[in-house]
Amino acid sequence: MQSDSFEHLMNLVAKPGAVMVRGEGAFMWDASGKRYLDFVQGWAVNALGHCPPELARALSRQATTLISASPAYHNATALELGARLAHVSGLPKVFLASTGAEANEGAIKLARKWGKLHRGGAFEIITTVNGFHGRTLATMAATGKPGWDAMFPPAMPGFVKVPYGDRAAMESAIGPNTVAVMVEPIQGEAGVVLPPDGYLRSLRALADDHGLLLIVDEVQTGVGRTGRLFAHQHDAVTVDVMTLGKGLGGGVPLAALLASERASCFERGEQGGTFVGNAFTAAAGLAVLAVVTREGFLERVVQSGTRLSDGLRSLGASITEVRGRGLLVAARLDAARAERVRDIAFDQGLLINAVRPDTLRFMPPLNVRDAEIDEMVGILGRALAM
Ligand code: PMP
Repeated sequence: MQSDSFEHLMNLVAKPGAVMVRGEGAFMWDASGKRYLDFVQGWAVNALGHCPPELARALSRQATTLISASPAYHNATALELGARLAHVSGLPKVFLASTGAEANEGAIKLARKWGKLHRGGAFEIITTVNGFHGRTLATMAATGKPGWDAMFPPAMPGFVKVPYGDRAAMESAIGPNTVAVMVEPIQGEAGVVLPPDGYLRSLRALADDHGLLLIVDEVQTGVGRTGRLFAHQHDAVTVDVMTLGKGLGGGVPLAALLASERASCFERGEQGGTFVGNAFTAAAGLAVLAVVTREGFLERVVQSGTRLSDGLRSLGASITEVRGRGLLVAARLDAARAERVRDIAFDQGLLINAVRPDTLRFMPPLNVRDAEIDEMVGILGRALAM
């Protein structure tokens, strides 16, 4: 690395000095050749691990066939991905995007348009305290992270926050301007927070009673992460709008906004973007979906999730709670020492995320091997004892 190499990318996240140069499956290597067992995986985006052959092959093929046809023309890959997403989700209308925030921004615009058409101009969206929806101005306003509403004033109006998992609070927040409720099936960035059983079903009923849209942000929970293709399927509810990102592209920037026929109300010119339906990224989505929807794949995610959770529980009193679903798992520690443990683990060649001061989060590839889970638990056990 040249001495000034670190000077030019805006320094917005505290990072260790190591520079990553290569990845394969559950592992990543830095420039010095040190190997890391990676349970961060691009922040839960490498659904199939680093550089999986299925994805690499699909991208190489697409890179030499057609990368971008432009949003002005149909391309075969985007059409196929749209059809595939509609088929597996039951939501027939798809808008392809590049990031989770962009997909959510689209969901917010769609809800406002729907309110204009069907709810006398209602525009307010009820979201949840500690929820996370992205870093654009609108998605920051939808996000319930403390302090975010005051960061880049004026905050975008039109969002009301209620405690997560609290159906009664959601109901009392509904007013004449409400058009939608928007929640994560599990709050990921908040520290893998699960709502009480039946929460999504109760929100579905509320939305139906009050004529609102139910929007689920499955950017983190979608595409197999929780052991079902989409996390809301655990509750057997239908949703009006769903957003996907992260794992959908297997590491390539790809996201999607999916809507029911009833909710899909954009007209020409109301939503778009240069990279929308990009053939290269759509090829990544098709490759990931082909693997994740293979017979037995999601059952294996459930088994691996159980092995991971059991392994964490076996580590004794340092871990006071293990929570999560499938391979979206967090462990609460006996003290606010998550960052210290993360840093020790890093030195020992293990990448994990300190999602809260007292909580670690684990986001391995969905095809993680038993031996890799066991190795992670072993390194973590030693790191906790240091
Ligand atoms: N929604 C949820 C639930 C997320 O976890 C994230 C990212 N952590 C986002 C939206 C934003 O996605 P992106 O960073 O791709 O914009």
